[in-house]
Amino acid sequence: KNTIDKIAAGEVVDRPASVVKELVENAVDAKATAVTVEIKEGGISFIRITDNGCGIEKDQIQLAFCRHSTSKIRSVEDLVTISSLGFRGEALSSIASVAQVELITKTSGELTGCRYLIEGGEEKELEDIGAPNGTTFLVKNLFYNTPARRKFLKTASTEAGYISDLMERLALSNPEVSFKFINNGQVKLHTSGNSNLKDIIYHVYGRDIAANLLPIEKEFGSFSVSGFIGKPVISRGNRNFENYFVNGRYVKSSLLAKTIEDAYKGFMMQHKYPFTVLKLSLKGELVDVNVHPAKMELRFSNGEEIYRHLASEIKQVLRG
Ligand code: ADP
Ligand code: MG
Repeated sequence: KNTIDKIAAGEVVDRPASVVKELVENAVDAKATAVTVEIKEGGISFIRITDNGCGIEKDQIQLAFCRHSTSKIRSVEDLVTISSLGFRGEALSSIASVAQVELITKTSGELTGCRYLIEGGEEKELEDIGAPNGTTFLVKNLFYNTPARRKFLKTASTEAGYISDLMERLALSNPEVSFKFINNGQVKLHTSGNSNLKDIIYHVYGRDIAANLLPIEKEFGSFSVSGFIGKPVISRGNRNFENYFVNGRYVKSSLLAKTIEDAYKGFMMQHKYPFTVLKLSLKGELVDVNVHPAKMELRFSNGEEIYRHLASEIKQVLRG
C-alpha cells in the first residue's frame, strides 16, 4: 500500500509548488477568505498554509488522508463536473506519503480543534487541541523518504520562484480571497481580498502593465470569457505573462496559447507573446483536467469553437 501511495504521489506532487497548489485550492474550496502561505528553503523543508475556512471535522480527518476520498462529490450528477475540476481526493494522501505533515483544524461547530500528525503515510498522533476555526497544514521535509525524487528538485531559490509565480496566479484567480505569501520570513505578496481583477494585476505586475490593458467580456454558446488582454506594446519574449483560468483554476492549455497568439499575429511587429489574464467558464463536462494531474494541461471537447470565437473576439478588442 505504501509503495503504491508513493508512486501515486509522484503524479500529484512533483515539487513544493504542487503541494502549495493543492493545499491552497483546498483552502479556497473550504470557503476561506484569507489564506497565508509561508515557506522556507523553497518549500523543501517547510511549507505552512493557514486558512480560515470551514475546517475538517474530527471524525473526518483520517478519511481525508485516504486515497480517492473526497468530500466534494455529493451526488452522482456531480461526478462529471467534479472530476473535471480536479477533485480526485488524492492530494492529502499523496502529500502525506512523501513528507512529514502536521494538521491543525477546527470547525465552527466543534468546541475544540484537532492536531493530527502523519509521516510517510503513517499516522503518528491525533489529539484534541485548542485552535481557531479553520485549517493549518505544516508540510516538512518533502521527499525525505524518496531520495530519488528529491534529487529532481532545483535549488531552493528556483523552487521558491515557482511558488511565487503560483501565488500570483492564485491571487489573480481569486480576487475575493486575501492571500499572504511569506518566503523566509519576508512578505512577498499580500492581497486585500476585496479588490477587483484589475487591482490585483496592478499589484502583481505593476503600473506599466496595468495601464496597457484592454477589458474583454463575452458570452458564447458553450463558454464565456472575461478578463484583460495586454496591448501589443507590453508583449514579452516568453509565455510567462499568458495566464488562463478555466472555471476558477489556473491551467495550462496549448489550445488557448495558440488561439491567443494567432489572434495577436496581425497586431505585433515581431513574434512575441502577449500579456493576458483570461478567465473562461464552461460546463465541467467540456473540460478534462485529468490528462496530467499535476501538469495542469487540460483538454477541451469544444476546442474548435473556443478557437474560432475567442480568436475573433480578441482581434475585435485589439482593433478597438
Ligand atoms: P479533494 O480536494 O479532491 O477532495 P484532497 O485530498 O485535496 O481531495 O482533500 C481531501 C478532503 O480533505 C477534501 O475533500 C476536504 O473534505 C478535506 N480538506 C482538505 N483540505 C481542507 C481545508 N483546508 N479545509 C477544509 N477541508 C479540507
Ligand atoms: Mg484537493
